[in-house]
Amino acid sequence: MDFDYDLFVIGAGSGGVRAARRAAETGARVGIAEADRVGGTCVIRGCVPKKLLVYASQFAEEFEDAAAYGWKVGPTEFDWPTLIANKDKEIARLESVYRENLAKAGAELIETRAVLVGDHRVRLEYTGRVVTAKTILIATGARPSPHAALEGHEFCITSNEAFHLKELPKKILIGGGGYIAVEFAGIFSGLGVDTTIVYRGREVLSRFDMDLRRLFHAEADNKGVKFRCGEVFDRIEKQPDGRLIAHLSGGDVEQTDAIMLAVGRVPNVEGLGLETVGVTLDKTGAIEVDEYSRTSASHIYAIGDVTDRLQLTPVAIHEAMCFVETVFRNRPTKPDYNKVATAVFGHPEIGTVGLTEDSARERYRNLDIYKSAFRPLKGTLTGRTDRMLMKLVVDADTDVVLGAHVLGPGAGEMAQLLAIPLKLGATKADFDATMAVHPTAAEELVTFSAPNERIRNGETIVPGREARQPIFSSPVVTA
Ligand SMILES: Cc1cc2nc3c(=O)[nH]c(=O)nc-3n(C[C@H](O)[C@H](O)[C@H](O)COP(=O)(O)OP(=O)(O)OC[C@H]3O[C@@H](n4cnc5c(N)ncnc54)[C@H](O)[C@@H]3O)c2cc1C
Repeated sequence: MDFDYDLFVIGAGSGGVRAARRAAETGARVGIAEADRVGGTCVIRGCVPKKLLVYASQFAEEFEDAAAYGWKVGPTEFDWPTLIANKDKEIARLESVYRENLAKAGAELIETRAVLVGDHRVRLEYTGRVVTAKTILIATGARPSPHAALEGHEFCITSNEAFHLKELPKKILIGGGGYIAVEFAGIFSGLGVDTTIVYRGREVLSRFDMDLRRLFHAEADNKGVKFRCGEVFDRIEKQPDGRLIAHLSGGDVEQTDAIMLAVGRVPNVEGLGLETVGVTLDKTGAIEVDEYSRTSASHIYAIGDVTDRLQLTPVAIHEAMCFVETVFRNRPTKPDYNKVATAVFGHPEIGTVGLTEDSARERYRNLDIYKSAFRPLKGTLTGRTDRMLMKLVVDADTDVVLGAHVLGPGAGEMAQLLAIPLKLGATKADFDATMAVHPTAAEELVTFSAPNERIRNGETIVPGREARQPIFSSPVVTA
């Protein structure tokens, strides 16, 4: 059969754009449909605008700290509309770069919603035209869960709307305890908004190492974020003046200007025509794929958030490249999810790679845990009491470093570099053999002398006092 395209991609986000470009570079005829703005979640309403808002929210502390370093900073004032306008300008620039890159690679961008209408057949909703493709790639991403079961959810915003608020609220409640919830809590609180996290679990950031979670909570609390863990919203009401009333499961009632829900993301599968072509979903509602991202229909593949493997931009991009290797370069390649580094751009920041202590305990009998919490050098003049945490989880039998966890300034950048030795299987001895860069916070990672905890046959042994690292105590400035 003669097809209009060798590949038709549905969704021009992180995964879809990369797959379209790379496939087109092999000489394939590629079409890509986008229903909204090119760039998808990451560029338009995710990673990039979020990080810009995070930068904005860090200035208040910098202004405060400047005085201890001899600077006189005059009165400061923050203007939300200026930030949003500048952010929008940058996002528009990035969107045009994405468009240019698609064009340069020779992929045809079609601005329309697309749906599957039969084997190898895609209908372009804007014109109604049906096109055919030998291979179809679904890269439609995910969207914030509206939490439809919550009475009054329609009065709440999600991260999508948070990027376009006309004005900064004076007070906000954020529902959720994942990375999006805590990042936005840092943004709003840093910009002076009275911010409370309402989270059903006992501690936020459930997938992270427990030491990071506890210290994150304590430090964010010090910076002014309030936490209501173990509670949920029972219902939300809107008053005639536009303010909201949140009824909490503990019985309290809070009046607030805004409520943001960050309670999970839903794969974009509705109305795609999946049932027409026999593409099945898993029990979470994500598209089911095999190790090569192939769906239950042999000519249809799916990558990125719509498959809900790891909802991160670099993962969607990696899956895209593996797909192109497999289908267009005849080199079957499975995505590799081992030791994926991640960051939480909260106040404070988190960077992490590899196993948490708890997950290492489930798999290994003998572990050495190294950790150090300290006040970074910069805080010594300012009197700021923020602490950093560095932690290594080591397999005591092989000396291999299984996990590295950092909390504090630059943690995300450190996690990126830590991912390389961990991926290579570096041992604690390799870390020790690496000369420190002084004075840095990261030097802690290569100067740990003795473990804080030894786990032997699953039992925790705390070494003698003389061998312990200072934990949660003094500033560390070694020389
Ligand atoms: C607030 C926030 C912050 C984040 N921060 C980070 C971060 O710091 N680091 C990180 O790695 N990840 C982060 N992420 C996650 C990251 O954005 C996603 O993992 C990534 O964008 C997924 O890429 P994707 O290609 O699967 O989907 P998307 O980027 O969501 O792209 C899907 C595209 O498909 C389009 N589409 C959907 N249906 C159709 C259809 N039928 N026809 C045509 N087009 C369609 C959509 O409009 C969209 O443009 C963040 C996400 C959010 C929400």
